[in-house]
Amino acid sequence: MLQPLQLMQPETVQEASQAMAHFGDKARFYAGGAELLLLLRNRLIDAEVLIDVKRIYRLRRLEATNGTLRVGACLTHHELAKNALIREWAPSLALAESQVANIRVRNQGTLGGNLAFNDPHSDPGTVLLVHNASVTIGNAKGERRLALDEFFVDMYATALEAGELLLEVEIPRLPSGMTSSYLRLHRYQRPTLGVAVVARITEGKIDEARLAVGCIGPKAQRLLELEMKITDTPLSDAKRIFAAEKNYLRQWLQPVDDLLGSADYKLYMAGVMLGDALEQASQGDAGRN
Ligand SMILES: Cc1cc2nc3c(=O)[nH]c(=O)nc-3n(C[C@H](O)[C@H](O)[C@H](O)COP(=O)(O)OP(=O)(O)OC[C@H]3O[C@@H](n4cnc5c(N)ncnc54)[C@H](O)[C@@H]3O)c2cc1C
Repeated sequence: MLQPLQLMQPETVQEASQAMAHFGDKARFYAGGAELLLLLRNRLIDAEVLIDVKRIYRLRRLEATNGTLRVGACLTHHELAKNALIREWAPSLALAESQVANIRVRNQGTLGGNLAFNDPHSDPGTVLLVHNASVTIGNAKGERRLALDEFFVDMYATALEAGELLLEVEIPRLPSGMTSSYLRLHRYQRPTLGVAVVARITEGKIDEARLAVGCIGPKAQRLLELEMKITDTPLSDAKRIFAAEKNYLRQWLQPVDDLLGSADYKLYMAGVMLGDALEQASQGDAGRN
C-alpha cells in the first residue's frame, strides 16, 4: 500500500526546483511513476511529496532546429515510438522505444525518467549514445549541458545533483549516408542485452561506425576502441574482430551474472549481435516505418 502523498504540479522549472529546495529529502520528482511508484510501494524509498514535472512545457516539447532534435524529458516511450519526426531523425530510437516493456509501461514511462533512473536494463540510452546525444539539466539557478556518456555515471547513478531536473535530450542529425540499427535480446520484459549501431558502409566496407552495448554491465557504453579497429575493414572482418575481442568487451563492459543471463552468455551474444546490427545497418535504417 502507498502512504498518502502530497502532489505538487509546478508549471516551470523554477517552481519545481524551488519546491524541491523547500521540501528537501521528503520530496521526489515524479514523471510517469513507472519506477517511482514501485519503489515507494515496496518501501525501498520514502517520500511525502511528489513533484510532478509533466506540466512543465519545456519538458513536453519536441522540436528540430539547426540540425539538432530536442526531445523534452517528459515525452513517453509510446509517444516517441509513434512520432513521425523521431522516426525520420532517429529511426532506431523509435524502434527501441517501441520495444520497451509493454504498452502500459510505454504509455506511463518517460524518456527522462528512464535516463534519470539509469537502470542498467534499459533500451533508449544505448541508442542515444550512438547518436552522440547530449542532455540539458538544470534548476532555478541555471542549466548545464552534458554528453550522455558523462551523464551516465554508474548503475542507478547519473550526473544529476540534488534538486536538478533532466530537461531535454539533444540529438544531432546523423551525417549523410549513415544508417542505424538497434537489436535487443530479452527473456522477460526488461532487456538482457541491447546493441546499437550507426554506420556508413559502402560496398560491404565500413567507412565509419559507432557502436554501443547496454544492459550487460553497470551502464550502457560506446565501444570506441572497436569502432577504430573495424574502420576501413569489410563487414565480414568486423564480425571476426568482434568475436576475437572478448577480453576488451569483458574489461570495458564489466558484464555481470544476473537473473537475465550469465556474464559469459551476454558477452558472447554482444559479439554476435554487434555483427548482426552492423549488417542490418548496411541494409538501411531499421525502424523508419
Ligand atoms: C515492468 C517494467 C518493465 C520495464 N521494461 C523496460 C524495458 O524493457 N526497457 C527499458 O528501457 N525500460 C524498462 N522499464 C523502465 C521504464 O522504461 C522506466 O522506468 C520509465 O521509463 C521511467 O520513467 P517514468 O517517467 O515512469 O519515471 P519515474 O518513475 O516517474 O521516475 C524515475 C526516477 O527518475 C526521476 N525523474 C523522473 N523524471 C525526471 C526528470 N525529468 N529529471 C530528473 N529526475 C527525474 C524520479 O525522481 C525517479 O527517481 C521497465 C519498467 C517496468 C516497471
